[in-house]
Amino acid sequence: MENEYEFELLYEGKAKKVYKYNDYELLIEFKDDVTAFNGVKKNNIVNKGKINKKISSHFFELLNQEGMNTHYIRDYDDKAFIAKWTNLIPLEVIVRNYAAGSFCKRYGVPKGYKFDFPLVEFSLKNDELKDPMITKEAILLLKITSKEILEDIISISKKVNKILSDYLEKVGIILVDYKLEFGLSKENNQLLLIDEISPDTCRFWDAKTMESFDKDVYREDKGDLITAYTEILGRLKI
Ligand code: UDP
Repeated sequence: MENEYEFELLYEGKAKKVYKYNDYELLIEFKDDVTAFNGVKKNNIVNKGKINKKISSHFFELLNQEGMNTHYIRDYDDKAFIAKWTNLIPLEVIVRNYAAGSFCKRYGVPKGYKFDFPLVEFSLKNDELKDPMITKEAILLLKITSKEILEDIISISKKVNKILSDYLEKVGIILVDYKLEFGLSKENNQLLLIDEISPDTCRFWDAKTMESFDKDVYREDKGDLITAYTEILGRLKI
């Protein structure tokens, strides 16, 4: 398919396209494609990209206001934003407040079990290897990043958890778990929170009914994805 923007396409992933906007900035386009189970299940869902862009921009703006360093600069249009260009650290940081998804499968724990403290886990970002879990020690041994940066990543991930969980609680939503990614800015090597924060990468449950408003609706064929994602837009009043 033709590219939407006139800029140079640097990378196309499962849910986003990344273009060179200038020497230090990227344009990040949110696609309507949705995938699950490492790309085994695939669909195109009209408007998903716009909704995820809107939710991601909103959360990044909130985090920027709260003093977190993120790659988000400003919106470009209704499907894309401008972000600082970073060299990506190939880790997926998973933060969990309640048991769900692969955690339940791994340990045989019932879905919805509430943790006494947030759990921070890591996966190696590698499609061929199917993003295997990795320990902190293995991250350091394989020199994926330094000890200092890894410690910063963990402390930032916990701060983000507090900011987002408290914010969502006020609108009746439980932040169950989510995935974060980090990069080092091309301009000055600053550690930045990158990628997206959307119902594709977080689990959001209604605080009363435990109904999902996230990609589990698609993974588990539980209903209409756009209806679920639009519920988040409504709760956030955006
Ligand atoms: N997640 C993600 N991308 C991934 C893996 C996980 O965004 O490649 C998110 C997922 O949406 C959920 C959280 O990280 O909010 C924890 O996912 P889990 O490890 O339970 O895996 P899943 O059940 O998604 O396979």
